[in-house]
Amino acid sequence: MCPVLFIFYSIFSLFIQDEYTGLRHQMVETQIKARGISDQKVLESMNKVPRHLFVDAQYQSAAYQDRPLPIGENQTISQPYIVGYMTEAIHPDSEDVVLEIGTGSGYQAAVLAEIVKKVYTLEIIPELGVLAKERLKILGYENIQVKVSDGYYGWSEFAPFDAIIVTAAAEEVPEPLIEQLKEDGRMIIPVGSSFDVQNLVLVTKKNGAVKIKKLLPVRFVPFTRD
Ligand code: SAH
Repeated sequence: MCPVLFIFYSIFSLFIQDEYTGLRHQMVETQIKARGISDQKVLESMNKVPRHLFVDAQYQSAAYQDRPLPIGENQTISQPYIVGYMTEAIHPDSEDVVLEIGTGSGYQAAVLAEIVKKVYTLEIIPELGVLAKERLKILGYENIQVKVSDGYYGWSEFAPFDAIIVTAAAEEVPEPLIEQLKEDGRMIIPVGSSFDVQNLVLVTKKNGAVKIKKLLPVRFVPFTRD
């Protein structure tokens, strides 16, 4: 959709009665809660964020289904369960400052922004970054800052971060991201090549030591480089 049309559509959608509320609550009950996500903050946030406004009009009716969806430029918005799982895994707190790599549609950033103090998010594809920035502004997310750049290097200006979420699969955990993680910080990242099994991995830092724990086999779009 062209950006101008998109803006009009989004504003219009905000004012009409949200016909998707029921579907969203059902998604949280059957896909998120039923599969073991129990962090109340995560459940409340996913009950609130209008996922259908993060995809093109043609996919809106499918926005609460149990699957990823295309967001253009060969990229996808993750399956709702994976968003819930990753958000819970970093134990988000109201005082946290979080870095996300792979803004995509902006949905994961919005789910985080409902919980934490500030979200910084980086997107490598300019078209997606620009659209997500407009969308998040229209939806009123003032605690999210979007920038178009290669997330491999993190965002040193605002580091260190309480938590980092990477939503594209990297061959290995980028060293600059480990450096930008605070002491006691948590990072979740899919690791593995696009042709092979990928695993969601939790990286933690305690007393300067870095620990890596495999959590779950997954399938993500690849982490690319400029
Ligand atoms: N979190 C997104 C899902 C995005 S899919 C959402 O909620 O919609 C993964 C995104 O990571 C894609 O948009 C892709 O362009 C982006 N990406 C891949 N490699 C990247 C990199 N090196 N730096 C920043 N973004 C990257």
